[in-house]
Amino acid sequence: MSSSDTMEKLVSLAKRRGYVFQSSEIYGGTGSVWDYGPLGIELKRNVKELWWSRMVHQRDDVEGLDAAILMHPRVWEASGHVEGFTDPLVECKACKKRFRQDTLADQACGRKPSVTPGEDAACELGEPRLFNLMFRTFMGPVEDAAHTIYLRPETAQGSYVNFLNVQTAARQKVPFGIAQIGKAFRNEITPGNFIFRTREFEQAEMQFFVEPGTDDEWFDRWLEERMAWHLSLGIREDRLRIHEHGPGELAHYAKKAVDIEYLFPFGWKELEGVHNRTDFDLRRHEEFSGKRLQYIDSGGGKRFLPYVVETAVGVDRTVLVLLTDAYREEEVEGEERVVLGLHPRVAPIKAAIFPLVKKDGLPEIAARLARELREAAIPSFYDESGSIGRRYRRQDEAGTPWCVTVDGQTAEDGTVTIRDRDSLEQVRIDASHLEGWIRERLR
Ligand code: ATP
Repeated sequence: MSSSDTMEKLVSLAKRRGYVFQSSEIYGGTGSVWDYGPLGIELKRNVKELWWSRMVHQRDDVEGLDAAILMHPRVWEASGHVEGFTDPLVECKACKKRFRQDTLADQACGRKPSVTPGEDAACELGEPRLFNLMFRTFMGPVEDAAHTIYLRPETAQGSYVNFLNVQTAARQKVPFGIAQIGKAFRNEITPGNFIFRTREFEQAEMQFFVEPGTDDEWFDRWLEERMAWHLSLGIREDRLRIHEHGPGELAHYAKKAVDIEYLFPFGWKELEGVHNRTDFDLRRHEEFSGKRLQYIDSGGGKRFLPYVVETAVGVDRTVLVLLTDAYREEEVEGEERVVLGLHPRVAPIKAAIFPLVKKDGLPEIAARLARELREAAIPSFYDESGSIGRRYRRQDEAGTPWCVTVDGQTAEDGTVTIRDRDSLEQVRIDASHLEGWIRERLR
């Protein structure tokens, strides 16, 4: 299967099953913005909850924060985003399209998509111009430069400006971290590949504040921890790798940067970045705000500006990795089937409950079982329509790990069969043990 075939199939499955829809589709769609449907939002919430649980709840050295999207405009001057968060663009006078100068070879001419911009004699590429990726708007009724405000392009700055607030309120000592999950906005020039690069997206970022000199060691620890997290979601190990940025690739604030990359259908691409940002951000905020952001160690009397190790993962990009990694087509029992082999922990629906036939009281038993699971906070789905085979196939595509069938024997001895999505094995257990059986496998 070619990479565009795979992506096309994924986009179509995502729409069909209610994972992801194009934003404002009935109006022809909005450029590179997507909406999450009933199953998509569950998958995304599971990703965020697993991240939060591991990064915040299971540790005593990371605190949560939810900073606002709109921040004081000086924040973005201090961070370097007003000045430096830019891509050089070239405009073609012939087709009126703008292209990123650094990736011209990957783009298509506006009039002749079979060639790259500049390749055709009729192309008229202009001089490169810098273009800022931040979305701009105005605060209050006056639309002038003094009221300009930005939609944040990353969540990290909210953690830096709140560093001392969090540290004192939570009575933390360095080393400690601040974690946030939230929306970020970038007016990307070349968005695309479905939800890989979009203009509105969600990030899960953690800033870990450490004493200078201990930063390299913490960097290694966090990189290892983040890799372990991706594996815990069931992502295939051979499709993950790390890529260290060379001196030419490093961002202005970074001493070291390593990307955790995934092998997407369109190649190895960044999924998460782990960065040693030194004291760049805190120092700049001290400079621009005029406020001290030093950490004072109450015990030892030390004072210093901490270094920061950042872990930054895209939530939407993780969803795309999970969908890509899980997608497979295969033949079973002489029939083609499409399966989303999602790990049970991230799967939107954990169990689908079917009555074998629509009579003899089986629907009532099955509906009751589904209700009981839902009340026990296990997302479950009742389905009585179509043949059992059809019902299995629908759940295979939706990524549901277990299908539970209520049959004649259930009415007699209270047992049900559970069919495993991947191995297709069936086991028969007492219905009263169903919740425990599922819970054990979600751990
Ligand atoms: P890229 O090189 O892909 O533009 P980046 O290095 O600018 O990404 P960071 O600023 O480090 O990315 O952001 C951290 C994470 O946020 C990325 O690893 C990615 O998962 C996610 N991310 C960044 N930009 C986008 C986007 N436009 N759409 C979706 N996710 C994004």
